[in-house]
Amino acid sequence: YAKKNKLDQQIYNQKIDVNTLERLQLINELKSAIEQGELVLFYQPKLDLKLNKVTHVEALVRWQHPDRGMIPPDTFIPIAEQMGQMNALTRWVMNESIAQYLRWKSQGIDLGIAINISAENLKDPYFCQYVLDVISDSNVPIEALTLEITEDAVVSDPENAIKQLKILKKYGLKLSIDDYGTGYSSLAQLKQLPVDELKIDKSFVQNLMVSQDDQIIVNSTLQLAHSLGLRVVAEGIEDEAALAWLTERGCEMGQGYYLSRPTDADNLVQWLTSSRY
Ligand code: C2E
Ligand code: CA
Ligand code: CA
Ligand code: CA
Repeated sequence: YAKKNKLDQQIYNQKIDVNTLERLQLINELKSAIEQGELVLFYQPKLDLKLNKVTHVEALVRWQHPDRGMIPPDTFIPIAEQMGQMNALTRWVMNESIAQYLRWKSQGIDLGIAINISAENLKDPYFCQYVLDVISDSNVPIEALTLEITEDAVVSDPENAIKQLKILKKYGLKLSIDDYGTGYSSLAQLKQLPVDELKIDKSFVQNLMVSQDDQIIVNSTLQLAHSLGLRVVAEGIEDEAALAWLTERGCEMGQGYYLSRPTDADNLVQWLTSSRY
């Protein structure tokens, strides 16, 4: 028995070593990945449930690693955050999103783009200035861009975050609270945020049709958001019934695998032309 325990321990240690090694390699490679163009943006449609039409997409970054293949953001975003590389990453995402917006525009396709912002970005007091500079250097209409911000980005330093968000909002950017319901922000804090949109976290939406609790949470979130004058986006819609349920209850927008998984720009256009949206 002792022997088996020892073996388990060895296997366990080995696993840790491999993970640590992998992590260290990723940390080393991430910086050059941004410079060498190994990042790609995938896009997932945001369907306007009233118009039954895709009016926006969310940009979701992936790392196309030369040896390891496609690395999902949950693997490398936390590393970028710890290594102080989030500003470089967000800069790249913004520039690429704007370039894609303009490419689509020139093909007659008008899609607003939502960009994810990390808590690290908002901590930088020059963040909003940077965002405004990037936008004014391009031909993108400012209202075509939405910034998706998680609750925790605001909780750590609400005063600074609110100040920056207010400036961005004043210039016409759309702001969205991402993963709503999973963070620890209070209603009082939310009320102070100059946001346009609230995104209900997918954990409340994925099992909507089989969970009474989720239905209650989503229903009351819809009422709360609407009474505060906010538009609601439900993410994680995985079946037709959930889409219908949300549409009936006045949810403004929907997103999820049932409609489309995130996909590259060309595939998205193909999907748009073949789908009924
Ligand atoms: P998020 O912003 O909450 O994005 C939604 C995630 O849910 C995406 O995962 C998307 O592929 C996935 N998803 C969409 N619909 C469904 C569905 O119906 N069912 C399920 N199970 N999942 C669905 P992804 O692309 O792996 O991104 C994970 C997270 O990584 C994002 O969560 C976001 O927090 C972060 N992220 C992605 N791109 C960026 C970026 O450019 N900048 C920053 N700061 N964070 C990013
Ligand atoms: Ca998001
Ligand atoms: Ca989310
Ligand atoms: Ca998330």
